[in-house]
Amino acid sequence: MSLLIVSPGKDPKAWVEALKNQHPGLNIYVYPEDHDKEEVDFALTWNHPRGIFQNYPNIKVVASMGAGVDHITSDPELPENIKITKVVDDRLAEDMGTFVLTLVLAHQRNLLHYRESQINEKWEPVPYTRNNDVKVGILGIGNLGQSVSKCLLKNGFQVIGFSKHKKDFENVDSYAGEDEFDEFLEQSDILVNMLPLTSETEKILDLELFEKLPKGAYVINVARGEHLVEQDLLAKVDDGHLSGAALDVFWEEPIRDEHPFWKHPKIRVTPHIASVTHPNSVVPQIIENYERLQEEEELKNVVERDRGY
Ligand code: NDP
Repeated sequence: MSLLIVSPGKDPKAWVEALKNQHPGLNIYVYPEDHDKEEVDFALTWNHPRGIFQNYPNIKVVASMGAGVDHITSDPELPENIKITKVVDDRLAEDMGTFVLTLVLAHQRNLLHYRESQINEKWEPVPYTRNNDVKVGILGIGNLGQSVSKCLLKNGFQVIGFSKHKKDFENVDSYAGEDEFDEFLEQSDILVNMLPLTSETEKILDLELFEKLPKGAYVINVARGEHLVEQDLLAKVDDGHLSGAALDVFWEEPIRDEHPFWKHPKIRVTPHIASVTHPNSVVPQIIENYERLQEEEELKNVVERDRGY
């Protein structure tokens, strides 16, 4: 049987090399090059063309090249029997943790203000709040959210987490379910969105949510662009309720020319680089699952299709 790589717009070379180095006997096809569809039982994908997996009669697994799986779950024509897997990787989690910490510290120590002052050749000290006086709320405290929380705790921040089910993480107060959502939001001086994109979480970062955050709160979105109602964020930053935002993900990537985020003095934009998958680090778990499939063993990191993550 064979593994198919489908990653339009993303060069698959590093993945092919890593797969070949770590499993020399593996037969690999790269979409859309000529290949035998009946041979394929496992696909490794990022943003596949909708509906294509219907044409592969023996495909059993579609593995995401990253931690997010919304690019797979959003395909309405994905056959029901196909299992979806995602990446769970220490390096990815570490990178997410250090990136969010960087954004939090940059906000905390007013670095955007000083960049602006420098451009204007102005010497303008402003007061700052100390880390242990700041509470960071992590919305969606799963694999990556936990890594973010560890980085923040090490640096003295107070951390609270919100998830579907209650958690028991050291030094992190856990909130779960609709009943506790407002209590979680009301305490979050900085809100970090780490939710997966599902039908329940799309557009969750909206006016109503922002108004529940304390005045002066800061919003960090490193999960998915579709979580955010962009006009609502702009309205709450512009009316002074929010002190600003750092955004790594967007509805449309890259964001269009003239998008109001580009030049907004209180909004920091980064091009979806919070945590980038490294093929060499992730390929061992892809191969392990490929072999598990051949041996008819249980796969690792399987997504529950009905909940979407
Ligand atoms: P996980 O599946 O490990 O964690 C998801 C968390 O969200 C869980 O704690 C889950 O709760 C919670 N959750 C899900 N739905 C809801 C809901 N409706 N209400 C409350 N809580 C909810 O995901 P990861 O940590 O691996 O990844 C998170 C996201 O990060 C990815 O889906 C992806 O979109 C994004 N990402 C962004 C990257 C970037 O570079 N910007 C890179 C990699 C990922 P529970 O545990 O109770 O089920």
